[in-house]
Amino acid sequence: MNAPLDKHTPMMQQYLGLKAGYPNTLLFYRMGDFYELFFADAEKAARLLDITLTQRGQSAGEPVVMAGVPFHSVDNYLARLIKLGESAAICEQVGDVATAKGPVERKVVRVVTPGTLTDSELLSDKTEAVLMAVHPGARTGVGLAWMSVTQGIVFLAQCASDELADWIARIAPGELLYSAEVTPAFEKNVQALAAQPLANGQRTVAVLRPAWAFDGALGERKLLEQLGAASLAAWDAQGLTDAHAAAAALLDYAEHTQGRALSHVKSLRVARSDELIDLPITTRRNLELTHTLRGETSPTLFSLLDVCQTGMGSRALRSWLLEPKRERSEARARLDAITLLRNGFASSLRSALKGASDVERITARTALRQVRPRELVGLGQTLGRAQQLAQALQHGLPEAGPALLQQIAADLTPPAGCADLLRAALLPEPAALVRDGGVINDGFDADLDELRGIQTNCDGFLIDLETRERARTGIANLRVQFNKVHGFYIEVTQGQIDKVPDDYRRRQTLKNAERFITPELKAFEDKALSAQERALAREKWLYEHLLDELQAHIDPLTRLARALAALDALCALAERSLTLHWSAPQFVAEPCIEIRGGRHPVVEARLNETSGGSFIANDTVMGPKQRMQVITGPNMGGKSTYMRQVAVIVLLASMGSYVPAQACRLGPIDAIHTRIGAADDLANAQSTFMVEMTEAAQILNAATPQSLVLMDEIGRGTSTFDGLALAGGIAAHLHDKARAFTLFATHYFELTEFPAGHHAAVNVHVSAVEGGGKSGIVFLHQIEPGPASRSYGIQVARLAGVPAAVVQHARHALAALENHSEQSRSQVDLFAPPPPSAEPEAHPLQTALQGIDPDALSPREALEQLYVLKKLA
Ligand code: ADP
Repeated sequence: MNAPLDKHTPMMQQYLGLKAGYPNTLLFYRMGDFYELFFADAEKAARLLDITLTQRGQSAGEPVVMAGVPFHSVDNYLARLIKLGESAAICEQVGDVATAKGPVERKVVRVVTPGTLTDSELLSDKTEAVLMAVHPGARTGVGLAWMSVTQGIVFLAQCASDELADWIARIAPGELLYSAEVTPAFEKNVQALAAQPLANGQRTVAVLRPAWAFDGALGERKLLEQLGAASLAAWDAQGLTDAHAAAAALLDYAEHTQGRALSHVKSLRVARSDELIDLPITTRRNLELTHTLRGETSPTLFSLLDVCQTGMGSRALRSWLLEPKRERSEARARLDAITLLRNGFASSLRSALKGASDVERITARTALRQVRPRELVGLGQTLGRAQQLAQALQHGLPEAGPALLQQIAADLTPPAGCADLLRAALLPEPAALVRDGGVINDGFDADLDELRGIQTNCDGFLIDLETRERARTGIANLRVQFNKVHGFYIEVTQGQIDKVPDDYRRRQTLKNAERFITPELKAFEDKALSAQERALAREKWLYEHLLDELQAHIDPLTRLARALAALDALCALAERSLTLHWSAPQFVAEPCIEIRGGRHPVVEARLNETSGGSFIANDTVMGPKQRMQVITGPNMGGKSTYMRQVAVIVLLASMGSYVPAQACRLGPIDAIHTRIGAADDLANAQSTFMVEMTEAAQILNAATPQSLVLMDEIGRGTSTFDGLALAGGIAAHLHDKARAFTLFATHYFELTEFPAGHHAAVNVHVSAVEGGGKSGIVFLHQIEPGPASRSYGIQVARLAGVPAAVVQHARHALAALENHSEQSRSQVDLFAPPPPSAEPEAHPLQTALQGIDPDALSPREALEQLYVLKKLA
């Protein structure tokens, strides 16, 4: 492989020349009906894709190692590579095979990478593929730029270095570009961030780009070019030099992968860290917003909400959920729209949205000239629907209807002539690829119609010729036919060969027949084949021309796509609010979280599905005078469900959705922090306790009086006194310093003393009654004022099947502890066996015996019972 280039075969020279431009990318080199990979690429692909590695011939004295995939199933293989975080450069034959001397000219036409996907086959319907670039500033902070190529919006942000991880976790890019000239510390940081799985279980691939690509001035120029503007002032995006530098690298890389300019990228947004409600990655995980703690996509809050009819709608809804704004005007606008849609409007709009094409992605692919004929036919049909939706909205809306819906109705009106053009230009059911022909509609182009006419007349001519030749030669079974390899021919069976006239020229000999051609048939063949070729060329040209014409519609189509997505998401929220009996939250200026009859929507849905049991609604009242609830009560009593339901309701309200409660009043919120459970971070070899404390520290540093903080069982990971002391300290900090809205569930009964000395804290507990049922405890899941009366741990242990003797032992020890004063507790011997109790726990054998009525048993049943009893002994 290290041999000089000129020692290689001409084909390998061409390959190596191309490969040099894509060192870290698998190069798919088109050869006829296959894409071939060579040398190290072949070995890697063989390993990753489980395809066969072969050797063919030699180049520069070495065997050529190769592996290939058929061109028609390449998408399948690409999808797998992308999932593994690999990139692939697609190299096509662009020259004319017939006239080429040496290897036909080839070119890399596009590069498929995890962050820049545009193919509908490779993208998931419901999520975006996001590309992100980061550029550390000269002094402090990091410039960020990101986009999804199919969405066409560039986002910029500047953040502090220690916030980078949260930005990356939130944006969840498929690829993260960084400069070759960053400090080793920054590089290490980026690599570490890329190594961590995102909340969606995927990983980010870190991609090194040349330092020159990260240039602030270049970035600003590129952005101005994209936007067609003279200044970035309108977007409030001037002076963000580091973000501009990141944008330069971002756009450069995206263009490089698509092999062309991104003419559809015409929107810019500057994201500010204080603009969104802070939802750290732990919160997204703990609240199971898009993935369960086990990493599944259902049941989650998003899976419950997402009844969208289109992928665009689902993507919009997901971003609303994950990026709620602190400022509530957008949420208010959505709520107004939902309120109107609930009045019978939503269901008819939803049925009209069903089956609509992904206009957003099709528009991007049109701008990138990658769009396929069937996608355009889908687009044409969807424009018709959009028109109907726009009219339905315009007629149905009251005079001063919600502004958001008015805007949507205006944006849904399709660009003039676009749908007609598509309908006229394309066959209703075109071939999958333009390459195969059969795409352009009849009657659209006179030249094409004429060329097609020649082909259609072909059949008539052949039948006519056959009849004439049969009559002329007297061969009754003579046939005129066509195949792809040999073209047109006249077939005569061997028995009739002596009747063949002189002007027949032999084309091919078969076992039982001979095939001939005549001058007349040859002339026809030339005409027919050239007509076919010319028709195909004409179709390709017409398709390109159609794409040219469509470029003028890209802007309105992009707006229309966003309107469709928003309408779909709003209708979904309206449907959910009706089906699940949710109500509209009310935003107020004073600090408060007041919920009447709140429910956890996902737990409630599960209960409805499985046990038929009903969810117990609970109230929550927090305000300046009541900022902290210390929550006690038995395990399994519903503490975490209650805490999470408050967070979920706050989040749903903030995104502009109705909420699972009878009523909800909500003051300003800037963050939702959660410290729940003890997720071991084995990868980092951190102890559970270390993780717990790290998360707690982050919350203590970040929480403000407008933050909602959920603390579940803090201090559990260490010894009792350590844990209790820490839990007490943390509660005091949250109460006195951060003054955040805090729900503090704890198993330290001692903490029920906390509210006595802290005016804004109150005790609440989850109720349970003892003695009921077989298990000895019944959970009522009702939140009630005051501390829990006692620990129900022992009952829960019994419920869980801990052996009776152990339960009895523990009861005895507990009684002894409770009877001793604080000082003398250490004298209690926890390990002393309990005295034989007056009413010893019945042995299972005894219980079973008591349950048997010998008179009611048949001999056979009696025998079966005997076996059962023997097992219990
Ligand atoms: P804790 O945090 O106190 O151990 P959880 O919140 O995990 O308890 O609740 C345990 C189970 O109790 C839940 O999985 C759910 O099935 C049920 N549950 C909790 N809250 C309610 C409620 N309000 N209504 C009905 N069932 C509930």
